[in-house]
Amino acid sequence: MNDLKEFIKGKSLNSVELVVFSIAGSRKLQDEVRLILNNASITIKEDKSILGGYLLKVGDSVLDRSHATRIAQLEKHITISGLDTDSDVIKQLSSLTDSFEPQDSIAEVGTVIALKDGVCVISGLWGTMYQEVITFDSGVKAIAFNLEAESVGAILLGDYTKVKVGDTAHRTKRVISVPVGEELLGRVLDPLGNTIDSGPKITLTDYYPIEKLAPGVLERQPVTQPMQTGIKAIDVLVPIGKGQRELILGDRQTGKTTLAIDTIINQKDSGVISIYVAIGQKLSKVVNLVEKLRSKDALKNTIFVVAGASDPAPLLYLAPYSATAIAEYFADKGKDVLIIYDDLSKHAVAYRELSLLLRRPPGREAFPGDVFFLHSRLLERSVKYSDDKGAGSITSLPIIETQAGDISAYIPTNVISITDGQIFLESNLFNKGVRPAINVGLSVSRVGGSAQTKAMKKVAGKIKVALAQYRELEAFSQFAGDLDESTKLQLTRGQKTVEILKQNQYSPLTLSQQVISIYAVNNGYFDQIDTLNVVIKETQLHDFSKLKYPKLLDSLETGVWSDEIEAQLENLCKEFFATDEH
Ligand code: ATP
Ligand code: MG
Repeated sequence: MNDLKEFIKGKSLNSVELVVFSIAGSRKLQDEVRLILNNASITIKEDKSILGGYLLKVGDSVLDRSHATRIAQLEKHITISGLDTDSDVIKQLSSLTDSFEPQDSIAEVGTVIALKDGVCVISGLWGTMYQEVITFDSGVKAIAFNLEAESVGAILLGDYTKVKVGDTAHRTKRVISVPVGEELLGRVLDPLGNTIDSGPKITLTDYYPIEKLAPGVLERQPVTQPMQTGIKAIDVLVPIGKGQRELILGDRQTGKTTLAIDTIINQKDSGVISIYVAIGQKLSKVVNLVEKLRSKDALKNTIFVVAGASDPAPLLYLAPYSATAIAEYFADKGKDVLIIYDDLSKHAVAYRELSLLLRRPPGREAFPGDVFFLHSRLLERSVKYSDDKGAGSITSLPIIETQAGDISAYIPTNVISITDGQIFLESNLFNKGVRPAINVGLSVSRVGGSAQTKAMKKVAGKIKVALAQYRELEAFSQFAGDLDESTKLQLTRGQKTVEILKQNQYSPLTLSQQVISIYAVNNGYFDQIDTLNVVIKETQLHDFSKLKYPKLLDSLETGVWSDEIEAQLENLCKEFFATDEH
């Protein structure tokens, strides 16, 4: 009885319940318990399913000494020890039974007291940790989300229609985590790490918690290596480095997803692992993306984490965090990872829904006060690890959808201030046929410049000047007839530059191809080409250089720059643009 005293020590005796197999047959036990509890009021319940023994519930703790639990323990003991069916099974069983020592099981339980779309409030479970997994008898799981003095607010996962008010909730003392491993490459997962494609089942033993503190300053090193997207307008004007966070924002249907997918396609042979997180998108769209990557042979090192438009808000909320946990697994192994969150506007909306259901006070645009922290703690996990930590990296491209181009709305400004730069896509440009529709004036990359290769830096400087001058003069272009020669030249150069920065989807270019194009336009080789023909001419230039200057391409690919390379580039352009009639 001393251990019973130990069990109730420090617990409030306001609600004590004793569950027994038979009330009549347990008088002695009841008296003993009453004695220990100093005659506090006890509810006695009969439950035939426990088969014998008893359960003592004090507050939210349950001391389980039922025969049903002991039998389950014995069963586990026998399974773990294993039976050799060839020799005497009875003998083995009796020795296993002898070596079995029943354990008291102490569980912490609570009761569901309120239930709303996808969330519930549980009384009890006082020791619960933030993001701990809570289970119900129906097998449904939940995650602790709001920890309050009297209750725990939890978000339900899976078929939450099975949970009812009055159900018992159990603590698991584990925070939510996802399975991680190489086998995930090429697969489509839900935010809990279950595969949802038609591939074979995978069993992984490693788990990573979905939320983790971002690496500290000492574990990081500056961003210095380029993450080539294969898109000229980005690699030249707003270069991205490994470990950087670059926001892609724009209205609906402005090519945001396409930029991200092109970047993944460009990583086909670069050794970078890509993770695409679809948050609240139509599944048909996601299937198309998977197929696109498969057809481009880029699916083999890509992982999809999908919370579809019809999934409940808790899954949408979890998706980017679980995807980042998977990214961290690879980065810890020294690999470079690219992660795309498509998109964080829908993520913020899912979070707002959960918060409002759990009655957190609404703030600006009805978002809860910590919506900034929601994204800052996620994006801070992007990193370039120091050499001591294996030099892996996580580069992230979060996507935000704007309304009518308003980048000063609440969520866009938040994420702009968290990231290291933004690429702003504009409907106007998109409709005019400038695709990718990047607004060069409003797009920046705050750290990527130092990650640009020498060759790219050399040609990029000039193009920025040409574009800036063109933007100033553009308004006059309709009166071109009245302008002097040098202004006319600037206008033509600007037009060709804008034209050369256009790029079709799903056709990323290599570093050498980009440098050649930009070099040619900078040095006026495209000035005489009809604007409509620039794209075709560019492709021909690339084919020509591949045929005639393979060595130059190889050295450009390494990103180096020298007078000799420049001279060869000049020869290449002269040869190509002279031999060809325009
Ligand atoms: P949503 O807001 O619906 O998510 P989005 O901004 O992600 O849209 P996308 O789906 O990437 O936009 O692109 C919209 C359409 O524009 C698609 O049909 C796509 O094929 C086309 N598109 C995007 N980029 C280009 C491009 N560079 N060249 C030609 N077509 C493009
Ligand atoms: Mg999209």
